[in-house]
Amino acid sequence: MRVIVVGAGIGGLAIAVGLRQAGVDVQLLERADRVRAHGSGLSLFGNGFRALDAIGIGDQVRAAAGPAGVVDRSGTRRPDGSWLTRMASTHDVRVIDRADLYRILLAAVPAGSIRAGARVVEVGDTSVVLDTGEHRSADVIVGADGLRSAVRSSAFDDPGVRDSGYGAWRAITTRPVATDAAGESVGRGERFGIAPLADGRIYWFACVSASLGRCAGGLDEVACRFGHWHPPIEEILDATDPASVSSLPIEELAAPLASFVSGRRVLIGDAAHAMTPNLGQGANLAIEDAATLATLLVAAKHGDEVPAVLARYDTLRRGRAQRIARQARALGAVMQASHPVTSTLRDLAMRWVPARVVDSRVRAVTRWSPPTP
Ligand SMILES: Cc1cc2nc3c(=O)[nH]c(=O)nc-3n(C[C@H](O)[C@H](O)[C@H](O)COP(=O)(O)OP(=O)(O)OC[C@H]3O[C@@H](n4cnc5c(N)ncnc54)[C@H](O)[C@@H]3O)c2cc1C
Repeated sequence: MRVIVVGAGIGGLAIAVGLRQAGVDVQLLERADRVRAHGSGLSLFGNGFRALDAIGIGDQVRAAAGPAGVVDRSGTRRPDGSWLTRMASTHDVRVIDRADLYRILLAAVPAGSIRAGARVVEVGDTSVVLDTGEHRSADVIVGADGLRSAVRSSAFDDPGVRDSGYGAWRAITTRPVATDAAGESVGRGERFGIAPLADGRIYWFACVSASLGRCAGGLDEVACRFGHWHPPIEEILDATDPASVSSLPIEELAAPLASFVSGRRVLIGDAAHAMTPNLGQGANLAIEDAATLATLLVAAKHGDEVPAVLARYDTLRRGRAQRIARQARALGAVMQASHPVTSTLRDLAMRWVPARVVDSRVRAVTRWSPPTP
């Protein structure tokens, strides 16, 4: 069986790893001149690790990310540092530098199977056309080409992209910063997230609602908005290289797709279900998609089993991914509340939510195991 994967992001690389290990002929087409990580840190949860185990690289990623539970406390705080909610430290969540994850994925995909500088502009049922006019064909076309997927717009009823109404900055500090707590701190339309890596560096993000202005500036603007919040936020910003800070509007798929499959074309990751990052699940789900599709395709003995395999993939993946996207959107609306009344009500309500309720919500999202073929 021959598989073309469009896009060498986390999802595309992960499915190529899963298929190559089973000897499937896979060709990855990436529009960028070189495959490299975008963004800074990434939270990987137990579900993401079980998916990485299924494609054979879970232990390598665990070793690179370091142990789970590197801080004593986690949850949501107010700008003055007082706690609104607490989360148990028993969740298997580790923070990794995206560059490390890409390094491991790339080492597991033989170099010959990746073609960089190959932008796909048209997609047929079993073929793609590159911007050079070159045609390539396969038994299955996997669209792993992200939020503005060319595979989705060519072959699916594409709802387009929706702006969430807030933007974000993100970076990793250049040196360790001491902290015993992780999580998010919420103000009015503003939010700061602290996610320590095992080596002591901090992956941080800051979100601001559009009603308070666009995230157009750099580190100076972040320091101006958040530097007076509770410790160690000012120290984290001082330990950040201004050139490493990136900002972006937070966008998601405008409406859920009716199917992740169209003929022999199938979508994974952000191409299928781009969501807001409020639950830290976009990449975890992209790896789940990849592990699921690889397991099912590898078990298919003949090319004529492909339609049934893709139908099963759609059944296994669509409900879960779209439910988590809905929950992430709802959570974002609450966390970004900028009106004084709504943000005060939010803080009051959060104080009353018992830790076990917060924990059971996290467990409901991260409870997932790879399918049996
Ligand atoms: C601020 C922020 C924080 C986040 N934090 C987390 C987190 O902590 N945990 C988590 O799980 N997720 C997180 N996410 C989400 C996560 O980054 C994405 O869900 C994930 O990277 C999606 O991977 P992907 O492979 O599907 O798509 P992408 O990473 O977008 O990769 C798509 C690839 O396809 C290529 N491509 C695009 N078009 C074409 C074409 N026409 N031809 C060929 N190649 C093409 C692109 O160049 C790219 O390499 C966060 C997102 C944001 C914005």
